[in-house]
Amino acid sequence: MSLTNTLKPKVNNKPKIWLSSPHIGVNEQVYVQEAFDANWIAPLGPNVNQFEKDLENHIGTGQKVAALSSGTAALHLALILAGVGEGDIVLCQSFTFSASANPIVYQGARPVFIDSESSTWNMCPELLEKAIKACIAKNRKPKAIVAVHLYGMPYMADEINALAKRYDITVIEDSAEALGSTYKNNCCGTLGDYGVFSFNGNKIITTSGGGALVTSSEEQKRSAVHLATQARDNAPHYQHSTIGYNYRLSNVLAGIGRGQMEVLNSRVDARRNNFEYYRESLAELDEIFFLEEPEGFTSNRWLSCILTPSFSHRENIRFALEKENIESRPLWKPMHSQPVFEDCEFFSNGVSDDLFEKGLCLPSGSNLTEDNLNSISQIIKETILS
Ligand SMILES: *Cc1c(COP(=O)(O)O)cnc(C)c1O
Repeated sequence: MSLTNTLKPKVNNKPKIWLSSPHIGVNEQVYVQEAFDANWIAPLGPNVNQFEKDLENHIGTGQKVAALSSGTAALHLALILAGVGEGDIVLCQSFTFSASANPIVYQGARPVFIDSESSTWNMCPELLEKAIKACIAKNRKPKAIVAVHLYGMPYMADEINALAKRYDITVIEDSAEALGSTYKNNCCGTLGDYGVFSFNGNKIITTSGGGALVTSSEEQKRSAVHLATQARDNAPHYQHSTIGYNYRLSNVLAGIGRGQMEVLNSRVDARRNNFEYYRESLAELDEIFFLEEPEGFTSNRWLSCILTPSFSHRENIRFALEKENIESRPLWKPMHSQPVFEDCEFFSNGVSDDLFEKGLCLPSGSNLTEDNLNSISQIIKETILS
């Protein structure tokens, strides 16, 4: 799948190379067939339960996981469980995909955006503290922090958790792009008060559409599932004491998820190999910058990203790839520059604007061939050296 599928499937007979396409393993169809055979075609069932167990085993912390219809739904439920409501302030990483911020607005709360630091491209702890202090000074203590492991690179979790603890603010960890990444040997998704995964079609593994919320206890998980299943009270008739949502994952799609969990490690290896390939083959170009992993940070390299010297270099590369039917994409446009969020407050240091101007995501699927990687690298080299 692609979010910007403006290209024809074939150009000059060259099959399209996608930015990040689904990569199905061996057993997905087996588990989906089980759902059909048992007539569990519902947003509950054995695949949902097992998929949650698979995720819990993967993270290995004892935290409980609720399988949901999307990562966005998981973020929304995390905000609700954190008590975020009308008029509250939520501090949110600006350099991210809009789904990190939209659920803040669903709750009637106000996002305040925080710029990135340059060693992980994620939320800058210094600016975060500045924002917390500024909000408290106005008697508007933030209710939650939404920090993001963008492109799979962990954010500075120790620093952000220390601030959250000092000022007693809930951390919602948007790990939608970072399943399989680790921070000091802990899985991303387990570092905040709530963790969020996405299984959208373009993510490291997919259920075609889906997500999960990592909670700290069985009780919290029960609350999440209650809200995700229309918040029915315990009664034989339909009775509701709170507003509910239809956010549970389908048992059919959870079957895909079970199969994908079996290949997760190999998908991470493949994406990391893509990154290494690009870095090595473009090493001779001083003009191209790759984000290294700080000590203790391990990225799943969901997308391989490069920084070019300027906007025009970036666009030249993008167009040269497009001409060969290869999809690439500028880095995320920061939320503080989005028309829909133009009235929101922003704590800035210029980092995310610079990344957006010069950065490009290269094809990164775990199903790319060495041939693909080679032709992409050659096109980049020719464009930079011409
Ligand atoms: C994909 C993504 C989401 C949303 O996940 P969906 O499953 O598509 O709703 C949230 N945050 C980030 C950073 C993402 O990349």
